[in-house]
Amino acid sequence: MKYLTPTLLFLVFLSCKSPQQWSGQGPIEVVPTEDRPIENQPFQDFDLGDGFFISNKMEGGRLSDATRINDSLVEVKILPENQPINPSPWYAFKVWSEEEKQMWIRLTYPTTGFHRYYPKINKRGLYYKKLDSAAFHPHPKLMEDGRTRIEFAEAKVWVGPDTLWIAAQDFAGTAYVERWKSKMLKNDFVEKIQIGTSKEGRPLEILKIGKSDDQKMLMAISLQHPPEIPGFLALKSFVETLCEDSPEARKFRSKYNLYVMPMMNPDGVARGHWRHNVGGVDTNRDWVNFNQPEPKALADFMENKVSETGGKFIFAADFHATWEDIFYTINEDLEGNHPGLIPKLIRRSSRKIPGYEPNIRPSEGLERGVTSSSYFFFVHGAEAMTFEVGDDTPRNLIRLKGETTARELMRMLNRK
Ligand SMILES: [Zn+2]
Repeated sequence: MKYLTPTLLFLVFLSCKSPQQWSGQGPIEVVPTEDRPIENQPFQDFDLGDGFFISNKMEGGRLSDATRINDSLVEVKILPENQPINPSPWYAFKVWSEEEKQMWIRLTYPTTGFHRYYPKINKRGLYYKKLDSAAFHPHPKLMEDGRTRIEFAEAKVWVGPDTLWIAAQDFAGTAYVERWKSKMLKNDFVEKIQIGTSKEGRPLEILKIGKSDDQKMLMAISLQHPPEIPGFLALKSFVETLCEDSPEARKFRSKYNLYVMPMMNPDGVARGHWRHNVGGVDTNRDWVNFNQPEPKALADFMENKVSETGGKFIFAADFHATWEDIFYTINEDLEGNHPGLIPKLIRRSSRKIPGYEPNIRPSEGLERGVTSSSYFFFVHGAEAMTFEVGDDTPRNLIRLKGETTARELMRMLNRK
């Protein structure tokens, strides 16, 4: 144990998936998922003098403290909802100033010791865009494990009376998913189903896509982890492709129903959490215990669906984001309802993207784990994967990956 310094222990949590899930020797490693307290982040305006203000009063907002260092520099602290937690230091806040001026904002992370998400800014509307690289100053540091990480970072912004929003990813709050669902619902083959309610009373909703008899069903989910918006973008492109008005997509929707839960953790997203729901728990460790309402509602829905219709789930994908693009798949010695579907799908869809080599990591173990993907496979026999895209993977590549995956899936399943 002497080599397990705090930093090393910490790095065990770095990847989106915990290693015990896929190195899996031995029985199911069930982790506790009973409620744990979270710190209620006060939503407030910080008056930093000279008519300059910074505020986390917004859906998805996260900023724990702000201090003025000098005329042109303020320092903010970004803290998580509770600990221990995977270091996905989400931030989102807004700034304004009575006078037009240039201001540097230093982002600091007292609990993780490093910065992760490249800043995005938004002057109005829903969509954030990357801050110009000339306005971003990362401060790299060699960590104890020999890796270089950004210890803190400074972002230069022009501020004035009009509010400027700054966030860790392309959106903040829940509105972007709601808007997308409304757009999808304009299709006559899409309907909305409420399957439960979160602890804070937000609806847990699924889109049903397709007009089949539910004998063969598919499941796609995203945003168990609030900052993982690139994962949602991949799911969005995947689902939109299956909703196209093309002969292949129409045929697919006549044979299969796809169920989509794009926002698994609405409370965590609304509160600007790094990773957990308001039960203070990583919901992607609760797919055996079902102590938390979000995984419980989806599992109940799927199990009821199967018992009511006699049908089965043949495919399931859980979309996430982490440091790089990875496909976590089930051990290839195990066979579900459609053996070989996932490895073939990944290989074939990746071939459609010039120069793209997929990073596929099948589970080493043969036992059920605590994640959604494991639940989908071991309980339903659905061929399952965790579809991870990188935090900074170019958005057009994410779109292409979602699209090619959907096209190959239709091609393979329409033959059946
Ligand atoms: Zn994740």
